[in-house]
Parts: sequence; C-alpha cells; structure tokens
Amino acid sequence: MNQQPKHPAPPAPPAPPAFDNSYARLPERFFSHQLPTPVAAAAQIRINKPLATQLGIDPAWLESAAGLAMLAGNTMPAGATPIATVYAGHQFGNWNPQLGDGRAVLLGELLDSQGRRFDLQLKGCGPTAYSRGGDGRAPLGPVLREYLVSEAMFALGVPTTRSLAAVTTGEGVWRETALPGAVLARVASSHIRFGTCQFFAARKDIDGLTLLADHVIARHYPQAAASDNPYLALLEGVISKVAALVSQWQQIGFIHGVMNTDNMLLSGETIDYGPCAFMDNFDPRQVYSAIDRGARYAFQNQPDIAHWNLMTLAQALLPLIDTDQEQSVTLARTALDTFTSQFYAHHLQGMAAKLGLSAPTADDETLVRDLLTIMAQEQLDYTLTFRHLSDPLDHPLLPAALNTWLARWLARAARESQPEASRYAAMQQRNPLCIPRNHLIEGVIQTAVATGDLAPFNELAEVLARPFDNIHRDTRFALPPRPEERVEQTFCGT
Ligand code: AMP
Ligand code: MG
Repeated sequence: MNQQPKHPAPPAPPAPPAFDNSYARLPERFFSHQLPTPVAAAAQIRINKPLATQLGIDPAWLESAAGLAMLAGNTMPAGATPIATVYAGHQFGNWNPQLGDGRAVLLGELLDSQGRRFDLQLKGCGPTAYSRGGDGRAPLGPVLREYLVSEAMFALGVPTTRSLAAVTTGEGVWRETALPGAVLARVASSHIRFGTCQFFAARKDIDGLTLLADHVIARHYPQAAASDNPYLALLEGVISKVAALVSQWQQIGFIHGVMNTDNMLLSGETIDYGPCAFMDNFDPRQVYSAIDRGARYAFQNQPDIAHWNLMTLAQALLPLIDTDQEQSVTLARTALDTFTSQFYAHHLQGMAAKLGLSAPTADDETLVRDLLTIMAQEQLDYTLTFRHLSDPLDHPLLPAALNTWLARWLARAARESQPEASRYAAMQQRNPLCIPRNHLIEGVIQTAVATGDLAPFNELAEVLARPFDNIHRDTRFALPPRPEERVEQTFCGT
C-alpha cells in the first residue's frame, strides 16, 4: 500500500556531541582525570550556534537542560573523558617547571564536518590537580571578555581559540569582592602549548616528548611526518604559523598581554584572552596589562617575544631533532633564524594590503613606516585611520597631518592594476570598522555584573561578528573612547 502515515514520525530528540578523545589515550602522565565541580544554579549566557553546528553539536541539545548541565560541568555526556592537562612554561621570562590546567577541564575532542579535530574545554569549572591554591573558578567579567575578544578575532580572520558558550554558575567567586561566577566553553584545534613540550623536555622524559611530538605532528603538521627529519619539520611548521599569527596581531593592533610560553599553542592559534586589548590610538609602546610592569609584552615587542618563545620550544625539541647535540643546535638555530624574515614578509604583505597595494616593494615599506610614524606622533586611532583610508568619501575625515603622506599614497595606489572601486572594496574587507575596544567591553561587563542584564553583551557580540560591515558606521560601536571612557589598564582576571 502506498499510504502516507497519518502522523509524521516525531523528530529525534537532540543528541549529545560525539566525542573522540585522542589526548586522553596518551599515557597517564600527560594529564589527571578530573571531573568538573558542579555548580549551584547554571544559566545560559550565550550559545554560539554557528560554531555548535560546525562541530556537529545540535544547537537544540546545547540549549536543552542536558546541554546546560554539560556546559556548567554538572553532568558529563557519554563519551566525554574529562581531564586536566599538565604543562610547564616561562612566565614573564621565569621558568616554572609545573603548571597545568588549574581551572580548566578538557571534556574531549570533536570532529567537524570536514574531519577536523577540536578540543572542547570548560574554563572556570573548579579546582584541579594543578590549581596551586587557586579556586579553579572564573568571574563573569573575564568570561564575557574572552567570549567577545576570541569571537571578534575569529571574525577578523585571525587564528584563535573560540567560544562555544558561556553560562553563569549561580555562585559567587571571591576576588577582593564577591563576583558572579561563570564558565566558558572553549574550543581549540588543540590546547597543546609550547610549555607542554617544555614540561617533558625539562624532566628528560624523552619517550613522553616523542609521543607528544608525534601526536602534534599527526594532528597539526601531518606533512612533517613525510619529512626526512619530522621533528625539525614540526619546529619549522610552528615557526611559520607563529610568524603569520603575530603579524596578524600587529596588523589589527592587538596586544596579547601575557605571551608566556604556556600561553602559546603549537597549533598557531591565539589563546588566553586575559589582559589582552586592542589599541585605540597608535602607540607602539602600548601596554595595558596591569601585571606587565616591565612592559615585556608591549605591542612593539610581540614579534621579538614570539621569537624568544620559539627559541624555548626549539630548546625543548633538541633531543628529538638529532642524536648529536651540536648538529641539533645547528639545525634548530637555522630554523629559528628564518623567523624574522618570515614575520617581515607577512607583515609587509599584510600592511600593504591594508593600503590596497599588492606586490609591495621597498618603497612601499617606507610608505607604511612613514604612515605609522605620523599616526604615533599624532596619536591617531589605529583602526579608524585605516578604515577612513579605505573609502575615498572618508578621506576628508583624515587629519591634515596626513595630507602629504596621502598624496604620496594616492599616487602609488593609482599604479595598481586593480580598478579603484574594487581596490577600496578589498581594503574595507581588510580594515575593520568595529573592534572589541576596551571601553565597549568594560561597559557591557559592568552592566552584566551590576544588574545581570546581558542584553548589551549580546548586542556587542553581534556587532563584533561583522567587523567589516558598514551598518554600524555612525554608531558608538565604531568610535574611539571619549577621554573619560578610556580604559588604561586591563587585568588577567584570574
Ligand atoms: P594564565 O596567566 O591565565 O595563563 O594562568 C597561569 C596558570 O594559573 C594556569 O596554569 C592556570 O590554570 C592557573 N590559574 C589561573 N587562574 C586560576 C584559578 N582561579 N584557580 C586555579 N588556577 C588558576
Ligand atoms: Mg594560560
């Protein structure tokens, strides 16, 4: 019979994520089994539905009671193998042989529709074996901050960890005063840090180091496996990714603020949105982080610090690169020596593209440098200066101090083969209008903490998801802070 059923089958209930946990299959000395500590009263702050869908997680499930329970750390879905991972690191240049996930738990890994593997981690979900006296919790403010900035970085095209969701815990977190607590669900290609390699190298655990390096090669640098020297190829791969990453930071005026080697991922993604900030007016010496008293991680130092951090990674990998120590050092040094030229090649290409110039020459390098010099002298807003250059109708908004430079640039740009209209259109896809400015972030955090109202946070998240879009052009989202709105310092919020 060919009858239609009278009642369509009820939709399948939303399914929990399907985990596959390769890191938890490594030996036990790589981590501790660690359940998140349940919270009193979880409530959703925001769920990133497009990211959930990409990861094969049903957004309806994440929004269900079972999803909320996972996001808060109250119950673990089948297939999760919650662990806290161990690592070491150089913090502000000082060696710390034992760090680890002190307030984060890795629930497991998910494969997206293209077969790419991602970690799902809860941050702020209670103490672990590596908490060193900390409470393992996160206040609401830093969770909102990380959500906004990491997703803004993604929208700007910068490799980064991402935010799948944030929830409040219904519990207070004590930091000088009682603050509302929250948990962030963080997604990364992996959370394996330079400091993870350093941990095994410092203990002379060469078997562990080899297993770790093989894991990282399989996961992030599969082409290195086919190389004559896979571990050298791994180092070269990380050097290339970090050179590209830091050049992207410099192009958008991003200051990481805490570039310790435990905050550098081998995948080449940005991680640890603590005291980070985007510059308003251009100042290469800019530092926002309250704990960076020596200005170690100032904007202009970021490429050199990345190079230094890569040196510590190279040192950790030395035993794998060659059995002959001297040969190993020579090979590692040769690889490290390419960092600066790789960085500058990316940087010149990227800064020229911000100005609509392809195939940049040495003259173009001077043109870029001269622009930045004037911007620093005149304390021009970094983001808006480039945005105004990106539309001829906005050129009258540029200050008179740029007139001579502008004429030089227009003459140079006229020699580009690309038609003017498409050149400006391309610049508008390179030079954002809306960035996560400190005062905007502070504003939504203050409202959320003081009143519980999350509407301004959600509104800002929507704006930052479309940073190149002109729709916010005449709004406060596109403006630098007024003098009384300026935020001079940021805090890591631990
Ligand atoms: P960070 O400066 O955020 O990279 O943190 C450095 C180390 O301190 C990491 O190993 C963190 O896990 C740990 N940590 C930060 N905040 C807390 C906290 N509230 N409780 C326990 N450990 C923490
Ligand atoms: Mg960290």
